[in-house]
Parts: sequence; structure tokens; C-alpha cells
Amino acid sequence: MKIIKSIQEMSAYSQAQLAAGKSIGFVPTMGYLHEGHGALMDRARKENDCVVISIFVNPLQFGPNEDFERYPRDFARDENVAINNAVDVVFYPEVHEMYPNNPSVVLHVKRRVQALCGKTREGHFDGVATVLSKLFHLVSPTRAYFGMKDAQQVAVVEGLITDLNYPMELVACPTVREEDGLAKSSRNVYLSPQERREAPVLFRSLKLAAELLEKEKNITLVKEKMVEYVETETSGNVDYFEILSYPELEEVPYSTQTMIIALAVQFENARLIDNLLITPKERDL
Ligand code: AMP
Repeated sequence: MKIIKSIQEMSAYSQAQLAAGKSIGFVPTMGYLHEGHGALMDRARKENDCVVISIFVNPLQFGPNEDFERYPRDFARDENVAINNAVDVVFYPEVHEMYPNNPSVVLHVKRRVQALCGKTREGHFDGVATVLSKLFHLVSPTRAYFGMKDAQQVAVVEGLITDLNYPMELVACPTVREEDGLAKSSRNVYLSPQERREAPVLFRSLKLAAELLEKEKNITLVKEKMVEYVETETSGNVDYFEILSYPELEEVPYSTQTMIIALAVQFENARLIDNLLITPKERDL
């Protein structure tokens, strides 16, 4: 497995692969790899001739009071995980390699960011779109793999690829969970033992919301009940509990279109997110 730190080398590698007629599967990450990332690498391995992952904690997507400095990092461990997942290249640039100057151009995401994390994390998706745009140019992936754990990110990336005409396919992969239902996340290490015991309530509330919606068909009522449920069963504060259209993320009546139930909960040192996609059937309405 190759570890590439320079932009020039990354670009040369991808161009050589493409010239040889090879397909490239790409998994962008911020490292501290777990089985969620593993599932993406696995899928990329099955569907492409070569697999590139990036490990880059992107300062542009963190707000001033967010966890950029203390975001968990362990390259030695990540390297082993990548080797075990038969990755061909880890692209691991320093911040000054990606942003040598104060950037003169950044991207601004206009749609699908007015709700959920886009509402509370100002500028977050602009930072995500900007770094991905650079990475897509450098890696030239045939297919890029993203987790539905970050469903809003998938919606934004879909817009980025479509609007800027990247000649690549977006592959959205299901959320990988712990046995008790908690979505795997690099940020789970921030949870205290007590918070870790409470955390499965997030996924439980999403499933409960889906059941209640089928019966009640009243989005406002279900949201209210679920905020109360999560705040009673955990020590966290609900940042949002939303039920919206997907991927547009707009407030719509309960209908046959695909909808997302999504929540964010702030614990003492960790903000956790999770979501569930539902497609109500005609007979439920
Ligand atoms: P991150 O390193 O957190 O930026 O995540 C990199 C990629 O892995 C993103 O596309 C995430 O959506 C995806 N990912 C993170 N956690 C999970 C999970 N539990 N299941 C599936 N994909 C995940």
C-alpha cells in the first residue's frame, strides 16, 4: 500500500491508473477509521480496479467553536485498517499541502443546507464541498463512496457532482451500527461511559418515530414526542429532530415520497447525529 502526501504525486498516480484503463474507487475520510469506513472501503474494493482513501481533517468544515484541534487522530492505526481493507493508496496530505495560502476561491452550497446540520453548523457544507472538489480533481475517481450516516452530506455531494459535472458516480452506503444500534462514529470516543449507555436511544427514537408516523401521520406531533423521549432517556440536549423530504430536505406533509427522520444530540463532549430514511406506502396514508 502506498502512502501519498503530495498533491502532485496523487494526481500523477490517478492519471497513470486511468491511462491504463483502470477504474478508481475513492473513499474520502477524516481518519480514526472504524467499521463504517471499512464498509465503504470494502464496497470500493469490490467495484473498482484500485482503491484510494483520503485521510484529511479538513479545517474548512469546522466552525470556530468546534472540535478541529481535538478531533481524534491515529495514523498508525488507520494505516493498519487500510492495509487490512486492501486499500491501494492512502492520500494523507498536511493542511498546508491542501491549503498553501489563504484560499482565494471556496464553494458555497445553496440548496439542501437550510435544515439539519447546515442550519446549526454555519459554513460546514461549504467547507465539505470545497475540499471534496479539490479531492475529486486530484483523485479523479470513477466512483466515490459516502455513508448514509451523513445523509445530508450525501445530498450535498449529489448536488456538487451534478452541478459541477464531475464525471463520476456517487455510491451511498448504509450506516454501520454497533450491536445496540448506535451508529459507528469517530466521535463516539468522546462519550462518557454513562453517555455511551444512553446513546442507543438515538436510533431507538428514529425507529419509534417511523412507527408513530405510520399510525399518526402527524409530523409535528411525532417530532414533539421524540424530543421529549430523547431528553428524558438521555443526559443530552436535542439540537434538532426533523422529518423532511429527502434529498431536498424540505418541510413537506407526510406523503409517499422518500423522507428522512434525522436528529442531532449534544452530549457533554460529543454531538451525535443519526437518521433513518422512510418511504411511506400508499396504504399508510
Ligand atoms: P468521516 O471520517 O467521519 O468524515 O467519514 C468518512 C465517510 O465515512 C463519510 O462518507 C461517512 O458518511 C462515512 N461513515 C462514517 N460513519 C459511518 C457509519 N457508521 N456507517 C457508514 N458510513 C459511515
